[in-house]
Amino acid sequence: MKPDYDVVVAGAGIVGASLALSLARLSPDKPLRIALVEAREPPPAQVYEGDEEAPFDTRVVALSEASRLLLEEFGVWETIKAARACPYTCMEVHDADGTGTVSFDAEAIDQADLGHIVENSLILQTLYTAIVDQQNIELLCPETVTAVNQGSADAGEIRTNNELLQLQLQGHTVLTRLLVAADGSRSALRDFCGFETRSWDYGQQAIVATLRCEHSHVGKAWQWFAPQGPLAFLPLQNHDGDSHYISIVWSQQHQRAEQLMALSDQAFCRELGLASESCLGALELVTSRRSYPLTQSHVIDYVKPRIALVGDAAHTIHPLAGQGVNLGLNDVRVLSEELGNCYAQGRDIGSTDVLRRYQRRRKPENLAAMAGMEGLKRLFERDELPFRLLRNWGMKQVDGLGPVKNQLIKRAMGIP
Ligand SMILES: Cc1cc2nc3c(=O)[nH]c(=O)nc-3n(C[C@H](O)[C@H](O)[C@H](O)COP(=O)(O)OP(=O)(O)OC[C@H]3O[C@@H](n4cnc5c(N)ncnc54)[C@H](O)[C@@H]3O)c2cc1C
Repeated sequence: MKPDYDVVVAGAGIVGASLALSLARLSPDKPLRIALVEAREPPPAQVYEGDEEAPFDTRVVALSEASRLLLEEFGVWETIKAARACPYTCMEVHDADGTGTVSFDAEAIDQADLGHIVENSLILQTLYTAIVDQQNIELLCPETVTAVNQGSADAGEIRTNNELLQLQLQGHTVLTRLLVAADGSRSALRDFCGFETRSWDYGQQAIVATLRCEHSHVGKAWQWFAPQGPLAFLPLQNHDGDSHYISIVWSQQHQRAEQLMALSDQAFCRELGLASESCLGALELVTSRRSYPLTQSHVIDYVKPRIALVGDAAHTIHPLAGQGVNLGLNDVRVLSEELGNCYAQGRDIGSTDVLRRYQRRRKPENLAAMAGMEGLKRLFERDELPFRLLRNWGMKQVDGLGPVKNQLIKRAMGIP
């Protein structure tokens, strides 16, 4: 039997779409045949094309330098930058209950910036445009992978004929050498294929929105840690470079989040002003507010025979450090490298030893990031005086230790 595709990527969020593009470019002489299956309609293409009044997307990503370089490799970064990517050169982290502050500066590590804030839909649109131009990617959209190896009733007992995997789409079946599930934090494929997952509910929701602010953000990002949850201000700029816009991610316990969501726009902005010490003056909402329940999850294994998980399907992390997409794009880079090496040697790209190498290389970084976020969250949610003193002391120490601080920020940026 011949496969219909070498690789089927299920889920064309930022991670799945990037993986399809990366794999499509691996071997120009003998390109892989790839299907990218996405359940939702493709994003509208025209929104950013010369439209200065295009509304802001409420979802944004703080892209690390490593992620930006990947988008540059795909040839989409210039388009993103020309539309509206906002570089930030400084980040201030505050303990909202005390006096502790740490600030990170791009100049101190000889970089032009610490990263870029970009709207999710802008990244997705540019990736889709590149995908449509890529002849060896078939975009099946809207379409869903509903089952793996139809007829295999036992989750976790995925049967293959040793060479191929059979996937059930809505109307037909396809054969592939490898399935990569990039179907997000609620991955149905992960569950269907019986991947064991550790997950827990944070009991929090993240409220996101875009606001216009009285004062320019001057390319600075802010983060306040409070016992009820962290608040981030991420700088945005309009098409013409107007730097009076920010995106917020405000994580709060469910009850408080629901109260904040129920407030009028003016009352919500007043609360936000209080929580942010009015650092940017008066605030005005320019998008509606949306809220997302926050969970953390991590699969025990990222791979099974002929199946790999990437991005949020494998690991979902608290958004307080804005690392979810960046970790997912690191998965993309490593899985592409491993599959590229294997394919160049004429070996089977679905073989378990290749997939296990991907898992070995990615699991430590993902686990470390999750442990770090969990530690930070727990440290800052304690309200007792000794914890507050320890936090303030710790932040002052870190702030005073230039080389340590610079190493921390370089790690977060994904630069050596
Ligand atoms: C409030 C908030 C703020 C965040 N801020 C940041 C940040 O600043 N920086 C950062 O790096 N990360 C951030 N994150 C995390 C980031 O959003 C996620 O890590 C990222 O979106 C995961 O991308 P993904 O492609 O893996 O999954 P998703 O974006 O969830 O994409 C999954 C795709 O799969 C499709 N799909 C689902 N099931 C199927 C199926 N069976 N068949 C086919 N298609 C399917 C879906 O339609 C979807 O398009 C934030 C998260 C939240 C909640």
